[in-house]
Amino acid sequence: MGAIEGIRKIDKKNHIVVISDEPYHTYSRPLISYYLAGKVAEENMYYRDRDFYGRNGVKPILGTGVRSVDFDRKTVVLCDGREVRYSKLLIATGGKPFTSPIENVYKENVFSFTKLDDVKKIEKAAARGARAVVVGASFSRLKAVEALVHRGVKVTVIDIMDRIMPRVLDETASSIVLKTLGENGVELLLKTTVERILGDEKAEGVLLSNKAVLACDFAVLAIGTRCNTDLVKGTKIKVNRGILVDGMMRTSEPDVYAAGDVAEGYNFIEERSMEIAILPSAYKKGETAGINMAGGERIFEKGFIMNSMPFLGLSILSAGLAEQHEGVRVKALLKEAENTCKSSYKKFYIKGNRLVGYLLVNGIDRAGIYTDLIRREEDISPFEDSLGGEDFGLICLPKDARKVRMLDGLNKE
Ligand SMILES: Cc1cc2nc3c(=O)[nH]c(=O)nc-3n(C[C@H](O)[C@H](O)[C@H](O)COP(=O)(O)OP(=O)(O)OC[C@H]3O[C@@H](n4cnc5c(N)ncnc54)[C@H](O)[C@@H]3O)c2cc1C
Repeated sequence: MGAIEGIRKIDKKNHIVVISDEPYHTYSRPLISYYLAGKVAEENMYYRDRDFYGRNGVKPILGTGVRSVDFDRKTVVLCDGREVRYSKLLIATGGKPFTSPIENVYKENVFSFTKLDDVKKIEKAAARGARAVVVGASFSRLKAVEALVHRGVKVTVIDIMDRIMPRVLDETASSIVLKTLGENGVELLLKTTVERILGDEKAEGVLLSNKAVLACDFAVLAIGTRCNTDLVKGTKIKVNRGILVDGMMRTSEPDVYAAGDVAEGYNFIEERSMEIAILPSAYKKGETAGINMAGGERIFEKGFIMNSMPFLGLSILSAGLAEQHEGVRVKALLKEAENTCKSSYKKFYIKGNRLVGYLLVNGIDRAGIYTDLIRREEDISPFEDSLGGEDFGLICLPKDARKVRMLDGLNKE
């Protein structure tokens, strides 16, 4: 979507072909858990109107994957043998789930949790009272847990780490999540892995690393997501964890661009090129690529990681740094002495006079202002003491900073 809209800002005439192995018009991937929970219908998951492709002069080829790209002949080869020539190519193959090696894993009731088709399959297995094993307690997997709980499924989550999402949540935040899972009847087994899926055609249980056996009616696997660089493996396109691009989203090959989760981006907080696998960045990278592919000039500058998770009544938001780094000060505030599901917890990461990250659990109402402070690299020293306070708001910012924001707001309108 970002790339098409970027191209059409500059070029109204040239042909655009979109090729995807998924058979659907572009839908919101984060909504798949809401679909599974029955909170959103399929027709409300699409980003743009049905006539979007037609209006923008786009020919969609959906439900057929790309097998390979011949960069010398500037030709894309589809899995069904068809070939499509290009003058400019954008690779936006997203991420793909990965898991630790598990024996006997290919079963009809062992699922991924990445695509609309995944949740359409899970939906059939997730009857009230069914028992599910979910491997991996990442943000997106916990969204699967929430949806399954909503459907009345009895869920056991298995994670190899000794804490939930240790790269995002510290011990206090993690203990609030743990209590929330417990209160919703979810069993959590930490420091544990699944060694083998038990059963012939169907999974009937799992063998854990502690040799215990856990019966289940289905399993949801994938401990995380990686950049899906399959299409460019072994080609001359340079790859690190994701496809390497410059600020204009150009790859190492002329006329080939990459965007979205598959392309690394410059994380200005960590000052390095890395994966930034979130939807707003995916769109921005796509739009940047599109504008440049059409002959315009745009640079993707300020990426940083954000995670947002409304989850079983909890709200968790984190942006920027989520771990202690050298030269970074930490300010943490826990409201309520006792850790309960309702505790509100705020943690700020400050480098010099700049906010470079935050974690909010419950009490997320000032998140927009905090994110804006990070993005604008604002000097927070005049109001640092009031940062996590109940009364913190735009009013605490110096007059000039407020004025800039007001003018930006007016310009947007
Ligand atoms: C369950 C879940 C929850 C999420 N929640 C959030 C959230 O709350 N907030 C947020 O910001 N982000 C969230 N994300 C991440 C967000 O969805 C991604 O950042 C975003 O979808 C990336 O967009 P993309 O276009 O780069 O890739 P994708 O959306 O992954 O799209 C890539 C497409 O390319 C197709 N493809 C891959 N290889 C080929 C090939 N060889 N031939 C043809 N087609 C191919 C894929 O099938 C897919 O349709 C979530 C992700 C998941 C899975």
